[in-house]
Amino acid sequence: MKTRVLRYSILTVILGLTIYQALGYGKRSFEAFCPFGGMESLWGLFREGQYSCATGPLNMSMLIAVIVLALIAKKAFCGWACPIGFLSELIGRLGMKILPWNSSVNPKLNSRLKLIRYVGLVLALYFTYQTGELILRGYDPFYIIFSGFGHGTLGLVSVIVLVIIIIGSFLIPMFFCRYFCPLGATIDPFSRLGLVKIVSDEDLCTECGECYTSCPHDIAPNEMIYIRHRDCTNCLECIDSCPEKDCLTLKVKL
Ligand code: SF4
Ligand code: SF4
Repeated sequence: MKTRVLRYSILTVILGLTIYQALGYGKRSFEAFCPFGGMESLWGLFREGQYSCATGPLNMSMLIAVIVLALIAKKAFCGWACPIGFLSELIGRLGMKILPWNSSVNPKLNSRLKLIRYVGLVLALYFTYQTGELILRGYDPFYIIFSGFGHGTLGLVSVIVLVIIIIGSFLIPMFFCRYFCPLGATIDPFSRLGLVKIVSDEDLCTECGECYTSCPHDIAPNEMIYIRHRDCTNCLECIDSCPEKDCLTLKVKL
């Protein structure tokens, strides 16, 4: 719980800063801080030596920073810095409190559904590179929310997308992050290599399952010694929930 208070405090500050930028008080647009903008600008930079549409050097710096962070601490960006991840987690927690059933997804189905995010990544990049426009804007909850359905959103389509994401997040924790986030798909291979990870001690584990229940990504830390799972955000919820002292720890491991 202590870690969650710290994590939520950091996320609240970042969410507040994003809203501040979105309201036009900052020097830059909130979009300039989106790491996925770096991916969207790659082709334009390669072909014409210039950034596509509204993207710029800050987007590229953010992308590089997120990738370096993933190589160090897996998807820590998603668990400790992303405003959409934060809002998804809050909605998911509300769902877990209200819904009378267990919200974990069958592991096989969960893995298959996660493939959608790679399809989304390829389609988003293909159409962005083809048109030179940020075509994801109308489907991206980050842009839809913080632009207030601004330029580039798709009216009713964007409303439907947002409603589906909100309802989905209520029913399945981290619904958008698990199945649709193209930035998550981009950093998956780097996250697998992340040095700082959860380590479990088989001798101390009583198989109570608390760590699995507390994990917003349905990862079961008790079933592996080193948590190399690409979706682990190092949120530390599993460590906090484990009743056995030092059974789960955060370590630097290759
Ligand atoms: S395995 Fe632990 S640290 Fe990783 S996402 Fe799940 S709860 Fe968070
Ligand atoms: S919460 Fe701790 S003791 Fe319980 S299953 Fe997970 S690692 Fe084992």
